[in-house]
Amino acid sequence: MTAAMDISITRAERSKLQDLNLDDLPFGKYFTDHMLEADYENGEWKNAEIKPYQPLLLSPSLAALHYGQSIFEGIKAYKDRQGNAAIFRPYDNFKRFNISAERMQMPAVPEELFMDGMRQLVALDQNWIPTKDDFSLYIRPFMFSSDELIGVRPSDTYKFMIILSPSGPYYAAPMRIYVEEKYVRAAPGGVGYAKAAGNYGSAMYATAEAKKKGYDQVLWMDAHEHKYVQECGTMNVFFIIGNTAITPGLEQGTILGGVTRLSVITLLNEMGVKVEERDLGIDEILAAYQSGEHMEVFGTGTAATISPIKELGYKDISMKFDLDKWKIAPVIKKTITDIREGRAADTHGWMYKI
Ligand SMILES: *Cc1c(COP(=O)(O)O)cnc(C)c1O
Repeated sequence: MTAAMDISITRAERSKLQDLNLDDLPFGKYFTDHMLEADYENGEWKNAEIKPYQPLLLSPSLAALHYGQSIFEGIKAYKDRQGNAAIFRPYDNFKRFNISAERMQMPAVPEELFMDGMRQLVALDQNWIPTKDDFSLYIRPFMFSSDELIGVRPSDTYKFMIILSPSGPYYAAPMRIYVEEKYVRAAPGGVGYAKAAGNYGSAMYATAEAKKKGYDQVLWMDAHEHKYVQECGTMNVFFIIGNTAITPGLEQGTILGGVTRLSVITLLNEMGVKVEERDLGIDEILAAYQSGEHMEVFGTGTAATISPIKELGYKDISMKFDLDKWKIAPVIKKTITDIREGRAADTHGWMYKI
């Protein structure tokens, strides 16, 4: 049952939009006029309000800063050609948010707060949705523990917030990826399937090391054998070998189940490409590469949608992929982008209208 939640709205006196060029935006740098904020206290969510975007006043003893009970989501809103705003599959993110919350011993956020709050906030700031190709309004819901107490235990109080960032494309160029055999992102029993803040902080060292070697990102491998592919940076990864698409399965809990991943699987199936969700070893990838099989390799995620991988560095071997010969990934990318930006019919009901 979902009762409507009262969300108070205080409007900004002046819009910052006039100071910004919506055709020239980096990713995640600018924020809209408003934000949503709500508090969890005494077992319930209260004080839900949409108000002018502003800094928070936090105690240095804030639990989240010390022990990392902090989770987030990433969602995008677009405008179609008629100027109607819509959000891509936000309900899937809502469900995943509460899966992350449970794993981090945090309270669930009710649907009426997450979904209605997001809808009202995006509606209020809809003039901020860029319309240029590959641009969008990035929606960042997050929650963190807010007890002012430095004892290691789950907090009694939490803050849930949503902020909005008009953004340009995330990764522009095809990527060179380093197959990571030393550092790991996630192990079975860990928090890999949760969008928990610490997963990203703990990945930065390995990424920086790969960058020193001239790569853009790492390909995370399994924690035990460093043999099986998991994710590419903060994206899910697909290998098309011949006419089969292979992506790691979610059963071990080491992979973040992406909404883009799910959408790409649907579109691949519709294109008649066989999809296998299973373990994929680096040996199998290397064998396919060396036998000259047709291969397309790409990452998927909300921020970048589909990011082509042009090179995989594994030990002293460099596997290079000829993007000009790709037939499947470009079609998938175009299809998903056309649906999001309103140029193709939304036959799957993925666009949530504002
Ligand atoms: C967010 C994320 C993804 C992609 O998920 P989407 O729902 O497609 O944005 C993949 N891997 C990791 C580690 C992520 O954090």
